[in-house]
Amino acid sequence: MTDQAFVTLATNDIYGKGALVLGVSLRNHKTSRQLVVLITPQVSQSMRTVLQKVFDEVMQVDVLDSKDSAHLTLMQRPELGVTLTKLHCWTLTQYSKCIFMDADTLVLSNIDELFERKELSAAPDPGWPDCFNSGVFVFSPSNETYEKLIKFCTEKGSFDGGDQGILNSFFSNWATADISKHLPFIYNLSSIAIYSYLPAFKQYGANAKVVHFLGKVKPWNYSYDSKTKTVQGDFQESSTLHPNYLNMWWEIFSTSVIPLLTEQGVIKPSETGCKALSGLVYTLAFSCGFCTEDEISEGVMHINLTPPPPPPPPITSEERKQKWEQGQADYMGEDSFDNIQKKLDSFLK
Ligand code: UDP
Ligand code: MN
Repeated sequence: MTDQAFVTLATNDIYGKGALVLGVSLRNHKTSRQLVVLITPQVSQSMRTVLQKVFDEVMQVDVLDSKDSAHLTLMQRPELGVTLTKLHCWTLTQYSKCIFMDADTLVLSNIDELFERKELSAAPDPGWPDCFNSGVFVFSPSNETYEKLIKFCTEKGSFDGGDQGILNSFFSNWATADISKHLPFIYNLSSIAIYSYLPAFKQYGANAKVVHFLGKVKPWNYSYDSKTKTVQGDFQESSTLHPNYLNMWWEIFSTSVIPLLTEQGVIKPSETGCKALSGLVYTLAFSCGFCTEDEISEGVMHINLTPPPPPPPPITSEERKQKWEQGQADYMGEDSFDNIQKKLDSFLK
């Protein structure tokens, strides 16, 4: 099948690593379709070489090309940079039908049956189920649709600042028009949804076909112990990423992707740091800092591609009061039931 493709996007080397894991997972499950990755000029040469080993086509798209109508939109709305890049997937007119997948998704079984669906098919968003989540969608490349989408962006913008807002406004009858365009949730299981409806996850989770690591913290923000094959971290019920899926991501990354990245020098063997699978010593984007001397000599690998985002700054009690009044209580943190009860107890005493 050379006229249908899975398409993903990486605008930098970090998302490139996600794209590689996705690509390998599609290959592991023997897709019969082509694999395409859209990249921007920021992606390094060595990362492109590695992407070429996994993807059939590595295509550079440059939203700053001044002949392009996307260029004009971007000048007026610079915040839409990554979004406009994603919309470029409609220009892949050498294919009759494609499935777009975010670079932070992981395929757990063959999903080629998705090509039987029509544009625009997608799964509901876990936060607002009348919107579809734009991490996985079926589309038909067309320059005409692409131009319409860009025009739409210029005129209407995006209600969430990203591609999901634009695509939901553009394909606005998705929620009601045709139920066959609603993909089952198992084709885009956001790790966020697991804890918000745990009984449903227990009932249906085993059927999951695609996991989406939606949100600020991505699999590559964790560190991984190659000896125990586990991701390091404190996985409470409230944690957003599920440790089993994170371990699956890292299993692919460490066994299939790291050797490719090392070969091309994207990951550099280093004098200090932790011992990796092949027996070489690596540090990734920054020095790990998790390994003890003993672990290094035992050949344990910890990898931390990017430091996790810093915790939000503490807010003043005035700001907190304002948030309360706007209905934005921090139920999971400061304003949790336990804390409210403690406060009441201390008053009563
Ligand atoms: N993306 C990218 N570079 C960025 C941000 C996003 O290439 O700096 C691409 C990537 O394919 C990513 C998708 O855009 O998966 C959507 O962003 P993300 O997955 O971070 O958003 P979320 O799913 O968490 O809302
Ligand atoms: Mn995503």
